[in-house]
This record gives sequence, structure tokens and C-alpha cells, in this order.
Amino acid sequence: MQWNSWHNHTGDGPRFSYCADAALTPEVYRRALRGGPWHAFALTEHAFAIALPDDAPWPFQWYDQPERLWAHRAFREDKTAQFLDRLGKVCDGSRIFGGLEVEVARDGSLSMEAPLWPYLDVVIGSIHHLPGPQPKWPDAFFAQLDMLLRHPIDILGHPFRELSHAGPVPDEVLDETLYRVREAGVAVEINAHMPFARDADVLARAVRLGVPIAFGLDAHHRDDLARHSYFAQIVADSGLALNDIRQFRPVRKAPKPRPLVR
Ligand SMILES: [Zn+2]
Ligand SMILES: [Zn+2]
Repeated sequence: MQWNSWHNHTGDGPRFSYCADAALTPEVYRRALRGGPWHAFALTEHAFAIALPDDAPWPFQWYDQPERLWAHRAFREDKTAQFLDRLGKVCDGSRIFGGLEVEVARDGSLSMEAPLWPYLDVVIGSIHHLPGPQPKWPDAFFAQLDMLLRHPIDILGHPFRELSHAGPVPDEVLDETLYRVREAGVAVEINAHMPFARDADVLARAVRLGVPIAFGLDAHHRDDLARHSYFAQIVADSGLALNDIRQFRPVRKAPKPRPLVR
């Protein structure tokens, strides 16, 4: 059986994802595609890492101060050029795809520059921070989810990771999230990096509602590439067969993006 992971990071060179190990290079993914359990990967780096010289203000201060993201113009322009260079060299659009993991700030602004859209195959929208006291997190969650879904993201990444820190996530929150994701034409992720206790339930409910599924390692270390075992476990626990699951496939946003002129 072969798997796709639509959510992966690298940590080498210019550090497009500060949280990933430096030994996790594009070459590691390329090698993993040779005759193993993997059919395709998307390299979905953190959008904020293209804009900020380090990850210190992320995401907690950035959420309330989105202007921080645009404060280092020369750095951002240089790193954007390096990022586009890597996409061109590494991503073939058939087994290695290019992408970003983005989030929204309190004002709904995205952590990614709009001119990048046509260069990306896979954009993951994630909630990494919920503001305010935990009893109010469900409201904060849906407010942030709606802002995120207003952007043309492809996948909702680790949907309940942050919210679950406030306690068990009830059925109605799972289903309401999946309804909104479906209305937006977005896939929902089963994330192997930090498993959510109800992943099998999320999978079964999403399939019942017709929401496409995106399996994502959210790889940060080379060892994470063995975690396809988690996907197999969740599919088994859900009671579904792999054929029952409509899996996400990337669709190129524009066939031939124009050069980014600055
Ligand atoms: Zn994330
Ligand atoms: Zn990630």
C-alpha cells in the first residue's frame, strides 16, 4: 500500500520551517519515494518563516500584531526568492509538490503574500493559537476557522490540535467544523505529528459527510517518515476501507505562473 503525505516540513539551508530538523532535507523525501510506502509528498513550509528572521514572535504575538509579519521587508524579499528557487528545483508536480502552511491573524489577514498563490500546489490552513480564556475557545475557534476558510486554502491542517488543549472536543464541534470545511470545498487533515484522540472518528464523520481527506505526516524529523503506520491504524480504527475514502489531490492554482515582479 502506498500513501501520500500532503503536510511536510524541511529544516535545511535557509530554514523554511524553523521547527524542523536540519537533517530533514528535500533529498530525504526524494529518497523515500524510491520503492517504499510513499507515493507523493508536499513540502508545506511555514509561511511565517519566509517573513520573519526567527520564530520568536510566532504565533502568539503575531496573532495580535500581524504587522510584525511585514516588518522585515529585505529579509522577506530575499527569502521569498530562495523559496521560489527551491520550489522550482525540488518540486516536480507529480510526486513532490510545493506548498505552504498558513494561518490567519486576529484581523483575518493571512501569513502569506497573495502573489505566492499561483506558485503553490498545496496550501494548508492551520490554527496554531487560540486567544482568550479556555472556556471561550470554541467561539474563538469557529471565528478563526471562518476567517481561514475565506482564503482559498486546500486543507484544514490538524483541525482540533489547539482546541483539544481546552478539553474533550464534543461531537457537535466536530460535525460543525466538517460542515464548514465541506462548504468551503476544503479537505480535512489526519495529522500524524501530534495525533488527536478522535482522529478515527473525524475520519469516519468526514467520509460520511463527503469531505475529502488529506493524510499529513507534518514531518519534522527523518524518523517521521515511518509514521504511515499511524494512517493505517486510523483507517482500521474507523472501520472504513481505503477505497471508501475520497483522498485529497493537489490542483495547481495556475498552470504557468507569471514571474513575481517586485
Ligand atoms: Zn501546524
Ligand atoms: Zn506543520
